[in-house]
Formats: sequence, C-alpha cells, structure tokens
Amino acid sequence: MKCKECYSENQRITPLNGARKCLENHRQYICATCGRTVCIDLGGERKARCFFPFSTKEMAVLYLKCAEIITGSGCGIYELIYTRGDRRYKIFASENELCRFLEKNRDIRCENRTPVYKTEEITKISPEQIRYLTKEEVEKYLSEKKHK
Ligand SMILES: [Zn+2]
Ligand SMILES: [Zn+2]
Repeated sequence: MKCKECYSENQRITPLNGARKCLENHRQYICATCGRTVCIDLGGERKARCFFPFSTKEMAVLYLKCAEIITGSGCGIYELIYTRGDRRYKIFASENELCRFLEKNRDIRCENRTPVYKTEEITKISPEQIRYLTKEEVEKYLSEKKHK
C-alpha cells in the first residue's frame, strides 16, 4: 500500500544507490508514517536530488515529498522528451516553473504540460523529520533495507 505521507509502496527502497554513503553523510527526510528516509541534502538552492530528472515516473514519486518540503507546496511530476527521444521525469512546483525550464532548455519538450503524477493531499511534517541519522539509525535502516 502506498504510504499517505511519502507516497512510496516500499518503505525501505531509498536510497536507491550508495545507501550507506547517503545515509551517513546526507541530511534525510524521515517519514513519520512508514519510516522511509529520503535524501534531502540541499547543497545550494534546488540542488537536492529531488529536482534532478529521473529515468522513471516511479523513481520520481519516491522523491516527490522532498520537493514538496523544499518548495513548501504541492508539486507535480512532468514527462520530458529530449531530442534523442529519451523520456525523463522531473518534479516542478508549478506549470510556470516548468515553462521557465523549457524556455531555458530548448532541446527538451513536454507534450501537454500536465503532470503525469500529482499529489491529492499533502501531509504536514514537523521540523524534526529533517535531520542527519545517528550511527545506530543508519545500521538499523540498512539491515531493514536488506530484508525488504
Ligand atoms: Zn544522499
Ligand atoms: Zn512513508
């Protein structure tokens, strides 16, 4: 079942790559409902993983909550088509933001400019859910991740 707070069906799927390194070194959003953690390290405005293009819509969904936390609003996932025909999925806070991105990136198209995924209802989170994990939490999460 999809978590109503973080929108994931798999509670330990993230980090997708380099789990230990990410959990030990990057700030995480910790879902209060299912316990999933998602990298929310900013490293500058809009540099968080959630604002990069994803290869599938499903991957983008895993990071949608982080984009909503950072932007402070509901976000949508849009399908982008690159000149070579590849499709990528990118999160934007609004259609305006998508349009600005497309103006700057003329080789990228978005067919109907409506999100392929959008949140219906956003759960509020508390500031304590954004933090670095303790050593113990990292180990516990990694062992749970292995057994999922
Ligand atoms: Zn990370
Ligand atoms: Zn969750």
